[in-house]
Amino acid sequence: MSAHPGLAEIERARAALVGRVRHTPARPSPQLAERLGAPVVLKHEHEQITGAFKLRGATNALARLSDAERARGVATVSTGNHGRALAHAAREAGVRCVVAMSRLVPANKRDAIAALGAEIAIHGASQDEAQAEVDRRVAEDGLVEIPPFDHPDVIAGQGTLGLEILDDLPDLAQVLIPLSGGGLAAGVAAAVKARRPGTRIVGISMDRGAAMHASLAAGRPVLVEEARSLADSLGGGIGLENRHTLAMLRDLMDEVVLLTEDEIAAGMAFCHVAEGVVVEGGGAVGPAAILAGKIRPIGPTVALLTGANVDPTQHARIVSDPAILERLA
Ligand SMILES: *Cc1c(COP(=O)(O)O)cnc(C)c1O
Repeated sequence: MSAHPGLAEIERARAALVGRVRHTPARPSPQLAERLGAPVVLKHEHEQITGAFKLRGATNALARLSDAERARGVATVSTGNHGRALAHAAREAGVRCVVAMSRLVPANKRDAIAALGAEIAIHGASQDEAQAEVDRRVAEDGLVEIPPFDHPDVIAGQGTLGLEILDDLPDLAQVLIPLSGGGLAAGVAAAVKARRPGTRIVGISMDRGAAMHASLAAGRPVLVEEARSLADSLGGGIGLENRHTLAMLRDLMDEVVLLTEDEIAAGMAFCHVAEGVVVEGGGAVGPAAILAGKIRPIGPTVALLTGANVDPTQHARIVSDPAILERLA
């Protein structure tokens, strides 16, 4: 049983990431501040290389491998942002990378990962069946698995975003964090609470299949039924064998807020109309929660915009839907 990562591991990750990830912009949002009744800063992490923060965790995990492990190569199961991040980080490091996916993963996502030089293994019709292929490659080919969230080096890498927002906004009172498996929230919370213990940490998920929310309530990992959501990158379980993120968030997370699909759509539309940026559903839940009146005005608040990788047709439909735009007025 390895220990949970803390400030020391996150500082070390930050050093490992220099020159490999972007320090993304933090920009005040006067309109959201008006809605909340307190200053709001948006962290534009959707401008990260590969279009999501996941490059931080993947890059740190690769940097932490021994030369012998790097020579063997890495593997993961993914339908999206983590697979893309690991493929990019592996190419930069000259490491072989296998990404296993089910045949339900759309061709455009498959192609984006293949274009980064990763080997694609299409296997089965679910994430679980694709995971079985990763297990087989690890056992037979000696590949090293880099999972998307429940891994100390991945969590420490995501935590560097917490150090960045403390640099960007020293008088921080509250952080709004999109929440799925909890690698991002655990890392950011560990960094922020270590430096500013009074800071409120709020996780935000969709109300359909919010696995971490259900697991925190039950006090153990629980399975939830997966449902289609605009916040597709927040889908999936936390793993019944969860070792780090659940325990860390039990200690570090102050609240979880859940959003409806209409509220998430309004967040995406707000990002486009008011801020001029394209943000995917899972990345827009911070602004969405403020617009929905579900966040307390306790002081300077940072909302993390975590990803840009949205299907263009879906995005165009949402940002031009009069019923959604009306919710912004
Ligand atoms: C993965 C992801 C999240 C959630 O991160 P976890 O570490 O799984 O909680 C949030 N936003 C985007 C865009 C993501 O890709």
